[in-house]
Amino acid sequence: MKPFTLIRPSTLTAARDRVGGAPDKRVLRAGGIDLIDLLKEGIAGPDELVDLKAIKGADAEAMRALAAEGGGWSIGALVTLAQIAESGLGDAHAVLREAAGSAATPGIRAAATIGGNLLQRPRCWYFRHQGLVCLKKGGDACLADGGENRSHAILGGGPCFIVHPSTLAVALVALAAELEIVGDAGTRTSPIDKLFALPRVSPMSEHTLAAGEVIRRIRLPAGAAGQRSVYEVAKARQSFDWPLAEVAASVVLEGGTIKSARIGLGHVAPVPWRAVQLEEALAGQTPSAELFARVAPLATAGARALGQNAYKIPLTQGLVRSALHRACGIAVPD
Ligand SMILES: Cc1cc2nc3c(=O)[nH]c(=O)nc-3n(C[C@H](O)[C@H](O)[C@H](O)COP(=O)(O)OP(=O)(O)OC[C@H]3O[C@@H](n4cnc5c(N)ncnc54)[C@H](O)[C@@H]3O)c2cc1C
Repeated sequence: MKPFTLIRPSTLTAARDRVGGAPDKRVLRAGGIDLIDLLKEGIAGPDELVDLKAIKGADAEAMRALAAEGGGWSIGALVTLAQIAESGLGDAHAVLREAAGSAATPGIRAAATIGGNLLQRPRCWYFRHQGLVCLKKGGDACLADGGENRSHAILGGGPCFIVHPSTLAVALVALAAELEIVGDAGTRTSPIDKLFALPRVSPMSEHTLAAGEVIRRIRLPAGAAGQRSVYEVAKARQSFDWPLAEVAASVVLEGGTIKSARIGLGHVAPVPWRAVQLEEALAGQTPSAELFARVAPLATAGARALGQNAYKIPLTQGLVRSALHRACGIAVPD
């Protein structure tokens, strides 16, 4: 591992200035879980890690707070996955609590932050192999396309077929979360969907932040009356494995019908994927097992399997059905 210097700035401005001036050499550190992996794997080799946890004052308070706000929630970027998993997020926002409690292991959840979770790099084994130069590292081909691709994308892929690694991002997509981002031009607000870019737009990076921009907070809008949200995941082993596929569903029920739904899919696409056709088919319908069975295939509309990952299509559809049953309180038929 290349040696680095740990810088501990006392203000957010100082941290941003330090990184923005040389983004190839200086990198922000939050929990450090993904960064240290990348350093050990030889995928990243910055000269300096700039510790966000050292900052003080009002920015630090905002970045560490998890607080109810106007019916919704404000979650600072330095709040850990463990804090979210143990939080009082109610039925409307429960999907985020469930997702945070399912990710990684208790030890990792105690250190990993929601900001770092959103911006972690993909787990693709070709990308993570120091000796291989895939498209994401400046090469000219995706090695998973035609290679070992059982974990790779079935939706939105090409020319690179990574899946987005963040479990929390999938839940935030279902909740229509907004990000508060601080940069040179001041503070801006962005819908969570706009944080991520498909490989055909941005093959080397998974996000749209400019150099030196920092996520300060994530805001969850107020829940509607009758809103319930749930998270479902399939893993090879439940203990610590990465998801094979995951579904975050947020449903608003009114007078016995589904008024609206937002469905996020994880580990099926290079970005947290919104199942818009499915959402449209659910709106205005009476929830039932028959409805869920009929519309679940819309979740994977347009899917294109690679050689080894066709299993993700029925797996995702099954998770969608489970999530809708639970969100709408409809028993699963025997
Ligand atoms: C065995 C194992 C299993 C795992 N399983 C899962 C899983 O199921 N689901 C899942 O989602 N993750 C999983 N992870 C990954 C883990 O959750 C992430 O590595 C972790 O959440 C990253 O957060 P961090 O705070 O440590 O980020 P860091 O490593 O500190 O930073 C990650 C990136 O984010 C940037 N960054 C951090 N905060 C900010 C900010 N506020 N503004 C701008 N940039 C910022 C950093 O510069 C860096 O580029 C697993 C990891 C392991 C080792």
